[in-house]
Amino acid sequence: MYIILLGAPGAGKGTQAAIISDKINLEHVATGDLFRQALEQGTGLGNKARSFMDKGLLVPDEITIELVLGKLSSAEGGRFVLDGFPRNLKQAKALDEALAKQSRDIDKVVYIMVPEDVLLKRLAGRWICRSCQAPYHSVDSPPKVEGRCDRCGGELYQRPDDTVETARKRLEVYFAETAPLIDYYARTGKLVEIDGEGGVDEVSQRILVALSQESRAE
Ligand code: AMP
Repeated sequence: MYIILLGAPGAGKGTQAAIISDKINLEHVATGDLFRQALEQGTGLGNKARSFMDKGLLVPDEITIELVLGKLSSAEGGRFVLDGFPRNLKQAKALDEALAKQSRDIDKVVYIMVPEDVLLKRLAGRWICRSCQAPYHSVDSPPKVEGRCDRCGGELYQRPDDTVETARKRLEVYFAETAPLIDYYARTGKLVEIDGEGGVDEVSQRILVALSQESRAE
């Protein structure tokens, strides 16, 4: 089972991917997390990705496609939720081709819709746990103890690319390069549109209901 979560930065893809992967037993593959891990470990991949990430730009396709396809082919089970990939048409086509070679296909593409002003506000106040990646928001969902994760006590940090300026750039890149994927997947009949406003649980409920309705309808 292959599910793609599509949406702008700040739409809640990471949060929702973590919840639904848990609930319906899928492996959560998040390209942003893979790049951030590589950065923290100081690997060659991390060093190549850093300058693009810091500027809010996409890491070049050759690097990203190889990373993700390698991850998909090495994992067992063949059940994935992809979060943050594909982010442009070239990546989408590379994914289609790689899956076709294994006689597999994407099952559903969940597009989480959030208005642009809400996205910017979310990104600019976002804090993330360094240990378990749980997200917080300085106004909407602050931690009980400042700077500490409620779940695991880990240290909270602000992503360097969540400054207002870089967040604006990431949204610009999203609208130019990633948003065309909405039409691309709509044409395949696999796109499910979800209202991404409201509480985290409300949104995950909408996604889970939509996925179960869609699979019943097939
Ligand atoms: P994210 O955590 O998904 O917001 O990703 C953080 C950053 O990682 C992005 O702004 C890009 O620089 C890079 N990145 C993540 N996924 C991709 C991708 N599919 N293609 C290119 N760059 C990516």
